[in-house]
Amino acid sequence: MADLPNCPICTMPEPLLADDGYECGTCGHEWLGDADNGLGNIRDANGNLLTDGDAVTVIKDLKTDGKAGGVKSGTKIKSIRLVSGDHEIEAKVDGRQLLVKAEFVKKA
Ligand SMILES: [Zn+2]
Repeated sequence: MADLPNCPICTMPEPLLADDGYECGTCGHEWLGDADNGLGNIRDANGNLLTDGDAVTVIKDLKTDGKAGGVKSGTKIKSIRLVSGDHEIEAKVDGRQLLVKAEFVKKA
């Protein structure tokens, strides 16, 4: 059995298995199972587990594809969304939707 994800709300490990996902035995939060798409195991530059809604700080100047400007090191992102793929974090910076690699951020 693969590692179970931590509860995205209270971060307690080892959730209960529900019909189509997980249920936290501590706070009662239920969420859809995503153990197979890798979203439960995305870590920042320091190895901290990231979850939807986390606030992070960019630690490297990032270029954005085909557009002027980019994201500067030190930029704070208030609420990330995890997606599957090469760039694991979807974020809004200055009203722009961006994809950022998890290795270039740290949890705020
Ligand atoms: Zn919980």
